[in-house]
Amino acid sequence: MNFRELAEYFNKIELISSRLEMTKILAELLKKADSENIKKIVFLCQGRLGANYEKTESGLGEKMVIEAIVKASGFTKKEIEKSFREKGDLGLAAEEFCSQKKQASLFSEELNVKKVFNNLIKISKTEGTGSKESKLKLMAELFNSASGTEAKFIARIPLENLRLGVGDPTIMDSLASNLLEEGKQNKQWIKEIETEMKEKKIKEKNWKEELNRKIKLKLREKIEEKYNIHPDLGLIAEILKKKGLKGLKEIQIQIGIPIRPTLAERLNSSEEIIKKLGNCIVESKYDGFRIQCHKDGNKVWIYSRQSENMTEMFPDLVKAIKEEIKTEKVILEGEAIAFNELTNEFWPFQITIQRKRKYGIDDKAKEFPLKLFVFDIMFLEGKNLMNETFTERRKALKDIIGNGNTVALTNFIETDSAKKLDEFFEESITNGLEGIIAKDLNAKYIAGKRKFAWIKLKRSYKGELNDSVDGVIIGYYTGKGKRTEFGLGALLTAVYSEKEDVFKSIAKIGTGLTDKNLSELEKILKKISSKKKPARVESELTPDYWTAPKYVIELRADEITQSPIHLAAKKDGKGLALRFPRMISIRQDKKPEDATTEEEIKKMYEKQGKKE
Ligand code: AMP
Repeated sequence: MNFRELAEYFNKIELISSRLEMTKILAELLKKADSENIKKIVFLCQGRLGANYEKTESGLGEKMVIEAIVKASGFTKKEIEKSFREKGDLGLAAEEFCSQKKQASLFSEELNVKKVFNNLIKISKTEGTGSKESKLKLMAELFNSASGTEAKFIARIPLENLRLGVGDPTIMDSLASNLLEEGKQNKQWIKEIETEMKEKKIKEKNWKEELNRKIKLKLREKIEEKYNIHPDLGLIAEILKKKGLKGLKEIQIQIGIPIRPTLAERLNSSEEIIKKLGNCIVESKYDGFRIQCHKDGNKVWIYSRQSENMTEMFPDLVKAIKEEIKTEKVILEGEAIAFNELTNEFWPFQITIQRKRKYGIDDKAKEFPLKLFVFDIMFLEGKNLMNETFTERRKALKDIIGNGNTVALTNFIETDSAKKLDEFFEESITNGLEGIIAKDLNAKYIAGKRKFAWIKLKRSYKGELNDSVDGVIIGYYTGKGKRTEFGLGALLTAVYSEKEDVFKSIAKIGTGLTDKNLSELEKILKKISSKKKPARVESELTPDYWTAPKYVIELRADEITQSPIHLAAKKDGKGLALRFPRMISIRQDKKPEDATTEEEIKKMYEKQGKKE
């Protein structure tokens, strides 16, 4: 496929804010893509150069992209910088100057997707001395041959700011809708769906549309199942293109490829938990960061909750995993938390999170050694354990985890008594932990989902909501008074609607922001800000600047109230909002889709009234 055609599609998608429309255009694009290019096209739609868990940073900053535009267009650095400042988007500046290049290059050629993708990959892989010049050359080569529209997207990709707003769920919906004809061949599905529709007395005139919708949902479910154990939409799209739905069988759990994590629900009291689960395992909730560890003999991978490869950050954990886990091939999960050996106490989250760093790794490892509390296992010696019950998985864990210096099992009890659960909760709090997580003994490992297999109970703060809320920043207001020096006064945040794959406003936050927070946030937000509301964002408030939904912050509030101006869980003209929200921290370990969901907010609001 020509890159020009892809860029035209990107242009269309960029202008759309309706997700339905976006899904339609994306489906059209993916239908057109041939099997050689589809993987690359899916990655480019995601604004990436590889699967979600692959590191493909370009190592190109704005300055170098500007230099490459200078080289290709013949305009001066000053002219380009000025346009960038005015437009706030280097993509738009690239578009402006590459559409009116001063010099026609001898080497100009029509760009295709493969060429653009390969050059960008080469840029991301070039390291060491002379790499700057090589990267610059590769980038300038692309700009040389690019039209204005092509240049806009070529500039944005290495800066990781594509601004299309296409989320993974939208890509999955598009893939599903392209499989509709194949889905219709599945007699079993049709039978099930038609029975259900008859029971629901679906009218004749809506029959066909409803049938198609339900088939697409089934297809989407099949795709998502694979995405949850192998989050590589490029590969999934390629297999679907080559072999159709049956090709999905090839995608299996694989050591080295992260599985999307299971998520915890919340309830407000031990009684509610026992009512829901009956006899269950109750574990301490450690306030560190979640890691998924893969071990294949002497090779170890460590992934974050967001499936980001963090192996190099934790040489101490890698060593301990090799030495202390008594098996060759395994995928397991646990919480890593910094431990103070002098006082025998856990360090708070703010200290533990300092271990997530690119530089000074060994020194910090000595200063704040980590312990890993293992709580689940998904794969053992060639066998997928995800469909086993938690009881079985726990048994398997016991066989391979001893009481090592660094790696241990979580502290737990098994009980069906709310009183015992409360006692254990208090004990966990006394030990400086966050609360408890109760686990359904019969549940499978449910990748990427929140389904009452795990239920968390955290310490409640007087006069405050029982739990914090993770909000996604969707915009900001420039400051007044003292805060003008930072250009950022308040933040507009949203929660995530899993069902609709959109972000809906929930709170405007002015407090809790320290000056350090402010300047840090301003720096990162500026890069993704615009005057145009981004796709997948729903808000009736208009901030001074919108930002692409990318950063998650942890918020506390006094309560959740009904509000005519916010859109989360809107019903009868009123949405839900946080009352007196304050920012606690920037959650760099969470993706926007990991933020608190609209469903959760609704449940939290409903439960609020029941607080004793
Ligand atoms: P939350 O992020 O508040 O939804 O709580 C869920 C998180 O708690 C998980 O993603 C883990 O990082 C963390 N966690 C701490 N201790 C445990 C445990 N024993 N079992 C499961 N998750 C735990």
